[in-house]
Amino acid sequence: MCNRFTKRRTNSATYTCECCGKRTRETGNDESRRDMCLACDLEGEIQNMISDYSHKIGPEQAAQFFAELNTAQANTADADTAAIKAIHQRVMEVAYA
Ligand SMILES: [Zn+2]
Repeated sequence: MCNRFTKRRTNSATYTCECCGKRTRETGNDESRRDMCLACDLEGEIQNMISDYSHKIGPEQAAQFFAELNTAQANTADADTAAIKAIHQRVMEVAYA
């Protein structure tokens, strides 16, 4: 698990994710404010959803999403990918169904 309490990044187009170390860029989900790529940010968001029971996402479904995120991250050098965006979209659909 990464340390989410990190310094604010400088204002540049790309930045390094403080969690996985990959170069990334903001995708419109505000993840750059937390110095994380979309995949790592989404992982944290899913964990929060499970722990506070506020969304329609359970541990088994979350585990499936984590596996998909790990695969998507492993397959790319740049964390900002269509695959991760697609997973993000599906998580939101499940969580807010
Ligand atoms: Zn990352």
